[in-house]
Amino acid sequence: MKTGIPNQEHHAVVGAGLVGSLLGLMLAQRGYKVTIYDRRADPRKGKAIEGRSINLALSDRGWRALEKAGLAEKVREIALPIKGRRMHDHSGNETFQAYGVGNQCIYSVSRSGLNLILVTAAEEHPSLEVKFDFISTGYTIEDQDGMSGVTLNFKNRPDILHDRIFGADGAFSAIRGKMTRTNRFDFSQQYLPHGYKEIFMSANSQGGFRISEDGLHIWPRGNFMLMALPNPGGTFTCTLFAPFEGEESFDNIKSNGDVMAFFERHFPDTIQHLPNLIDDWNSNPVSSLCTVKCHPWNIKSRVVIIGDAAHAMVPFFGQGMNSGFEDCTILSSLIDESKPNSEAEWHSLLDKYTRVRKPAGDAILDLALHNYIVMRDKTGDPDYLIQKRIEARIAAHHPDRWKPLYSLVTFSHIPYADAWSRGEIQQAVMNEIMASNDISENWEKDEIIAQAIKLLDAFESGTDTIDRPLPLLSTDV
Ligand SMILES: Cc1cc2nc3c(=O)[nH]c(=O)nc-3n(C[C@H](O)[C@H](O)[C@H](O)COP(=O)(O)OP(=O)(O)OC[C@H]3O[C@@H](n4cnc5c(N)ncnc54)[C@H](O)[C@@H]3O)c2cc1C
Repeated sequence: MKTGIPNQEHHAVVGAGLVGSLLGLMLAQRGYKVTIYDRRADPRKGKAIEGRSINLALSDRGWRALEKAGLAEKVREIALPIKGRRMHDHSGNETFQAYGVGNQCIYSVSRSGLNLILVTAAEEHPSLEVKFDFISTGYTIEDQDGMSGVTLNFKNRPDILHDRIFGADGAFSAIRGKMTRTNRFDFSQQYLPHGYKEIFMSANSQGGFRISEDGLHIWPRGNFMLMALPNPGGTFTCTLFAPFEGEESFDNIKSNGDVMAFFERHFPDTIQHLPNLIDDWNSNPVSSLCTVKCHPWNIKSRVVIIGDAAHAMVPFFGQGMNSGFEDCTILSSLIDESKPNSEAEWHSLLDKYTRVRKPAGDAILDLALHNYIVMRDKTGDPDYLIQKRIEARIAAHHPDRWKPLYSLVTFSHIPYADAWSRGEIQQAVMNEIMASNDISENWEKDEIIAQAIKLLDAFESGTDTIDRPLPLLSTDV
């Protein structure tokens, strides 16, 4: 195994999921020989890729990475634009909240369709190979006795020596599992008390959408919610997020009658659109949701983790894949900038990757938990809707001063941690504005905008008297 000259280095990527296949391609595009290993069977030779959610929201950070790899146009062919949230209250009324301004939108893409595009593009690269049915069990760093590199270990297969291992093997990463046995490696995993179940909404009899296809539909009900994201072809993937235990919980829905009663109680307007509700309920599992934090993301110059393996999060900001793709953008840019030519240079590059991306990972993890509360509890709250309208007006009048937190995360490339701090300042200003007694009558007045900017000025110049909300930590849910 030789190191130093890119095309003589042989890197392993563990995981041919969304992040691993994109990263593998980006490494090959930079002159490295790459082998991607995945524990699954080749999805093109059997059923579609199994696993979690059927569709995903792709936004600006994800698009940037796809553009960098030359795949954006191909992915656009399977992407459906989603302009905003469509909230459904108990009485069946629907409210629309645009996600951004102008043409800003997120895109619904099929997980399996996107994964197929990525794996196929990766395999078409002459210096990249994808091997399925390879279950990694960990690694051994070989930097003594004349050996140099890192051995990738497999279940029921011989070990293979590589220069570097990139662990893109998801939330329950075997590569990270081995890293946890390194001295001073921090690791925490936290399950949400809520799980999720998917239900399919078929197309109508004319093959069209049963509900408007330009929105992510939400039926917020306090401690639980139903969501629906459209797929090309007139269908929707609906997801019920609810507690595992308690009065209104998965545990308490035991019979078909319980399922119907639950939907009649909370989502009566959806029943006519869910002809397969009972079948889907009985065949789809209740899946769990967890958050994983760890540090560092690299072991010297030899092993590094990326995507969910480094920062698994709850799905409520639609940023898990997007942030994993952003990891690929940043890592490939670091390689482009420093063109590492020795183990010392790789070590310094991977240390920098950890330093830059770890705070971003922590911030988006917390933001995702925060958005869970927002979607579940707040999106149906009249005060919240007024707040969003006021914010939209401030942003329209002062686009250089005010950007809603959702836009900072979804439609910008500023570090997630900066988006989080900016969002907290704006929330503090909005808390003051919303505290005025007559806000529900006055929210459209220009003086509200002026007051918000004055408060923002005071905050930015350090002369404010506003209580800053405490950062939400992962333990707050
Ligand atoms: C319900 C839900 C909705 C979501 N919605 C969104 C969304 O709208 N937008 C968004 O950006 N994100 C979303 N996410 C998050 C997104 O799914 C993940 O962030 C993304 O899949 C992470 O990609 P990954 O490649 O890091 O990991 P994964 O997609 O988990 O891929 C890991 C790969 O590694 C392979 N593997 C695992 N272990 C081994 C092993 N030991 N050896 C070899 N191979 C192995 C697996 O087979 C798999 O192919 C959602 C997640 C959930 C659960």
